[in-house]
Amino acid sequence: MKEIVILGAGYAGLRALHVLQKQKEVHITLVDRHDYHYEATDLHEVAAGTQTMEKITYQITDIIDTIKTTFICDEVVKIDVDKEIVHLKENAALTYDYLIVALGFESETFGIAGAAKNALPMVDIPSAQAVHDHIMAQMQAYQTTPKAELLKIVVCGAGFTGIELVGALAEERPAYAKVAGVSADKIEIYCIEAMDNILPMFNEDLKEYCKKELEKRDIHMLLSSPIKAIEENQVVYGENQNLPAATIIWTTGVSGSHVIADSGFQARRGRVMVKPDLTAPDHANVYIVGDVAAVMDDDSKRPYPTTAQISLKMGEQAAKNILRQIQNQATEAFHFKSLGSVASLGNTDALGVVGSLSVKGYPASFMKKMIMNKSLLETGGTKEVLSKGRFDLYH
Ligand code: FAD
Repeated sequence: MKEIVILGAGYAGLRALHVLQKQKEVHITLVDRHDYHYEATDLHEVAAGTQTMEKITYQITDIIDTIKTTFICDEVVKIDVDKEIVHLKENAALTYDYLIVALGFESETFGIAGAAKNALPMVDIPSAQAVHDHIMAQMQAYQTTPKAELLKIVVCGAGFTGIELVGALAEERPAYAKVAGVSADKIEIYCIEAMDNILPMFNEDLKEYCKKELEKRDIHMLLSSPIKAIEENQVVYGENQNLPAATIIWTTGVSGSHVIADSGFQARRGRVMVKPDLTAPDHANVYIVGDVAAVMDDDSKRPYPTTAQISLKMGEQAAKNILRQIQNQATEAFHFKSLGSVASLGNTDALGVVGSLSVKGYPASFMKKMIMNKSLLETGGTKEVLSKGRFDLYH
C-alpha cells in the first residue's frame, strides 16, 4: 500500500483525490486548513453578498471515502522534500511515498506601500466574508455619520477577478443603499487599473462590451491609473491623485502559497516551474499542481495562466502519473487545451470565449453557470452539484 499525501483541497487537490480514491493499491492523506472546500472562482459573490458562503462551500468529509482517505484539518507549515516529510502546525509530521502539492493562491501586493495593511484581500472564505461585513458596516455607519466616503467602494485591478467583483457589487448596490438609508445611485463603485484597458485575456470586442455594460451600471473606471500607495481610507494613484473611500478591495494579482518559498523550492511568485510530467525538479515523487505550479504553454512560449480549469486538469494528470509510477510505467507529459473562459457581470450577464466562440450577455451567463456546475461535478460529484449547483438561470 503506497502512501500518497495531498496538500490542499482546492480544485487540483480534490480532482487528484477523486482519481486516487478509486484505486486499490493506495492510501491517501488529504490536508487542508479548512474542513470545507470552497469554489474560489465564486469568492467575489460572497464578498459582494450576492451569494452566501454556504452556497460556494461543502464539507470535505462529505466527499472522502474514509476507508481509502484520512483527512487532516491543519495548516501546512513546511515541506522537506529531501527527508520526504511534511510539517503541520498542530499535528505530527507526515511522511509519504508520493506527494501532491496543491496549496493554491494568495494575495500579491507587488510591494505597493500600505496595500497589505489598508486594502482588503479576497482570497478565501474568511477574507471574502470580511469584505462583505466591512461594506455593510460602512453602510450602517453612514446612518449616524453621513460622510460620502462611507458609500464609496474601490476595487483595485481590472483583471478577471476585479471585473467579476465590480459586476457583483453593482448588482448588490440596492441592498447596500437600503442599509445606508440612501437611494442606490448614491453608492459609488470605482475600479482602478494601471493599464489602459481591462481584461487582458479577451479581444477588443469583448473588452468594449464589458466597458459599455459597466458604464450602464454607473461604475467609475479609472484606467491608466497606477496605484502608488494605499493609505487609510484612501487610494493614492497616478500623479499624486487621491481617491478617498472607506472600502478598498485588492484584486490586482495573486501569487502561489508562501509555503513554496518557505520549503526552499525554486519559484517565481510562489510558482515552481515543474517538469513536463508535473513533478518538481529533482524529485520524481513530488507533484506540484494548480496555482503553485508554472507550466510552459508551447504555443505562446509563456507559462499558462493560473485558472481553476488548468488546476483540475493538473490534479488529474498528477494522480494518473502516480498510478503509472506505482505500476512501473513511464509518466506522461501534461497537455492542456483551454476550453475558454467566461467572466460574469452579475447573475445574468457575462462575456468570454467558449472554444473559439466569443459569447456575451445572457447566453454567456448561462454558459458560465454550466462551467461552474461542471467544475463542481469534477471536485464534489453529483451530490454537490444537486445541492450547490447553479440552476437559477432566469433571474
Ligand atoms: P485553490 O483553489 O486556491 O485551493 C488551495 C487549497 O489549499 C484551499 O482549500 C486552501 O484552504 C488550502 N491551503 C492553502 N494553504 C494552505 C496551508 N498552508 N495549509 C493547509 N491548507 C492550505 N479560474 C477559472 O478557471 N475560471 C474562472 O472563472 C475563475 N474565476 C475566478 C474568480 C475569482 C474571484 C478568483 C479569486 C479566482 C478565479 N479563478 C478562475 C482562478 C481560480 O480560482 C484559481 O486558479 C484556482 O482556485 C486554483 O486552484 P488550486 O487548486 O490551485 O488552489
